[in-house]
Amino acid sequence: MEWCVSMPKIELHAHLNGSIRDSTLLEIARGLGEKGVIVFSDVEHVIRKSDRTLHEVFKLFDLIHVITTDHKTVTRITKEVVEDFAYENVVYLELRTTPKKNDSIGMSKRSYMEAVLEGLRTITVVDVDFVPHGMNVSIPVTNMNVDNTFNGTSKKKIYVRLLLSIDRRESTEAALETVKLALEMRDLGVVGIDLSGNPIMGQWNTFLPALEFAKEQGLQITLHCGEVPNKKEIQSMLGFLPHRIGHACCFEEEEWRKLKSSEIPVEICLTSNIRTETISSIDIHHFVDLYNAKHPIVLCTDDSGVFSTTLSQEYHLAASAFDLGKRELFQLAKTAVNFIFAEGEVKQDLEDIFCLAENKLDV
Ligand code: 5GP
Repeated sequence: MEWCVSMPKIELHAHLNGSIRDSTLLEIARGLGEKGVIVFSDVEHVIRKSDRTLHEVFKLFDLIHVITTDHKTVTRITKEVVEDFAYENVVYLELRTTPKKNDSIGMSKRSYMEAVLEGLRTITVVDVDFVPHGMNVSIPVTNMNVDNTFNGTSKKKIYVRLLLSIDRRESTEAALETVKLALEMRDLGVVGIDLSGNPIMGQWNTFLPALEFAKEQGLQITLHCGEVPNKKEIQSMLGFLPHRIGHACCFEEEEWRKLKSSEIPVEICLTSNIRTETISSIDIHHFVDLYNAKHPIVLCTDDSGVFSTTLSQEYHLAASAFDLGKRELFQLAKTAVNFIFAEGEVKQDLEDIFCLAENKLDV
């Protein structure tokens, strides 16, 4: 486990509100309880519970959103989530979140995202690069951590890029609004669009116009695909040729063939799939088949807070469940550089980071 923590890692599938520290969620809930906004004892056991079905997970998200959707809290959780990933040597994070609108507190999708950016700006304990290169002076890898200390020790550096999520409960217009916002915020580190939310809600065709527009405009797209059996939707999603997909749990032979020939990278979230019972047991997880077929895959956390995991734990779990050694784990982490949505210069820096680590970690 210690070795998995020390290895540089790339996180490409992390939902902001799913990655909140339990302690933070409980602290905020307690505060709202004291103000009489919620009844703390009603929500405490829901937050503390660790095993949840997919259906229960979405009920929990509704509760989390009640607790966290104000500008100050969004700023705080963004800061903490990025720090937590950096502490476990995640060197590149694509953080996704659903921009939210709440007129009663003066929140627009834009102001929600500004609160997220504020969270990135307020981080001091680690060095965060979130503005695309060309927009500011990039820091070459050789200069990283030099004269850049916190409490006398070198600061860790993390690249952060943002994906704006469309929730499957949203309308075509709301989805388009999110895509337009993503386009306006490209200079601020937004690199793509995600489609997520409860997979039994909404219709693929509702989101298609917004996703097609996003693709035409050069945004990168990742889709939650095949979390529940829905052959028609899975086939349409694969036909759309997204730049990546998440999960791919309920595919049949035909869809596996289509996926493999398209070489669309798959974001694999082991703990999430097991906890939500979308995969009944780790030994039959499709990781094995895709790994053996050399299909592009990347290990991710999905919701590190909700599923009490870390990216290091996901690598550790893959090592023990699928009998992978250090070399295989390192290669798995390193190849993820190829699937990031950020610009080429970041890829180059990340390749350098992995090269340096390869020598240092004795793999
Ligand atoms: P947020 O977008 O509010 O920062 O993060 C929480 C949201 O991400 C949830 O409300 C849901 O829309 C989406 N999400 C988180 N985990 C999952 C998952 O495992 N599957 C799907 N389909 N959506 C998820």
